[in-house]
Amino acid sequence: MKIIDHIGNANGKTLFSFELLPPVKGQSIQSIYNAIDPLMEFKPPFIDVTYHREDYIYKQHSSGLLEQISYRKRPGTVAICASIINRYKVDAVPHLICGGFTKEETENALIDLQFLGIDNVLVLRGDARKADPSFIPTPGGHAYATDLLAQVVDMNNGKYLHEHNDANKSDFCIGVAAYPEKHFEAPNLKTDFRYLKKKVEMGADFIVTQMFYDNQKYFDFVKLCRENDINVPVIPGLKPITSSKQLVSLPKIFHIDIPEDLSEAVLACKSEKDVKEVGIEFMIQQCKELMSFGAPVLHFYTMSNPAPTKRIAEAIF
Ligand code: FAD
Repeated sequence: MKIIDHIGNANGKTLFSFELLPPVKGQSIQSIYNAIDPLMEFKPPFIDVTYHREDYIYKQHSSGLLEQISYRKRPGTVAICASIINRYKVDAVPHLICGGFTKEETENALIDLQFLGIDNVLVLRGDARKADPSFIPTPGGHAYATDLLAQVVDMNNGKYLHEHNDANKSDFCIGVAAYPEKHFEAPNLKTDFRYLKKKVEMGADFIVTQMFYDNQKYFDFVKLCRENDINVPVIPGLKPITSSKQLVSLPKIFHIDIPEDLSEAVLACKSEKDVKEVGIEFMIQQCKELMSFGAPVLHFYTMSNPAPTKRIAEAIF
């Protein structure tokens, strides 16, 4: 079922969903089930699975020369989605990225998704490879989420890359990313917002936000959306703080602010166990406020570690 229909059928009740990372190469699918099983009691109507572009690794030869090898550490997004649907009878949402795909490969991936009965996709540009200073598009691929979105929308209209007779129209419900504290490359929120509006005008059905810890930023962002005629659901992305290191790593990686009351509370903790308690309690209060505001879904970035999210869900659902 489409995410917008799940939200519509909920009649204003806030839903619960979460995101998983595919396991690193060599681990079994059981690690995915272990990340899902503890959260199924909260009845997620959908579960997202991230997609990770290839990175470079370096192999040293006996001659001493280093060979650069392109390597995907976390393959399996589409197969994981299929097994989630099969095993749990809930919708699985694959993240679809520009990086690492030619348009042809994207088309083939979309055909696979259709055949598997996947109704939703989250369309993204994707992160840059670690070795690259910024995002470098794959030759023959897309540079921005808007370009990838256009391809999915085309397919929903029966338009494939090359001539086709009687082409089947896909019917993907399409999500896109947004950043209440702006995307780090955008010169300002207004410019970034212009592209978000473009994504919605082009056919995006729902928005999922970057994580944030100050609800006011989400409230302001939703207001800005509505004032600019963006009327699709804006799903807040959430990630509880579970270690003191995250006071530095989260702003560094995700370009977000940690409010002073949260950082002060973490810094006052005597142990990492206490930090986890502070992070979980903060998130419970944050979620309660988001629910009162009428957030359609609370979407947790679990990073495949279900325990903190379970504690939060127990307190609020
Ligand atoms: P875009 O919408 O393409 O925006 C990128 C930048 O370009 C922005 O600064 C924007 O203002 C600007 N811009 C947008 N459109 C245009 C245009 N047409 N012309 C010029 N400038 C433009 N990364 C992964 O690799 N895998 C994942 O699974 C993944 N999941 C994510 C899930 C969520 C909910 C979020 C919020 C992020 C996720 N990311 C993931 C990270 C994401 O790929 C990065 O933040 C990436 O840098 C931007 O992706 P985007 O889709 O927002 O890009």
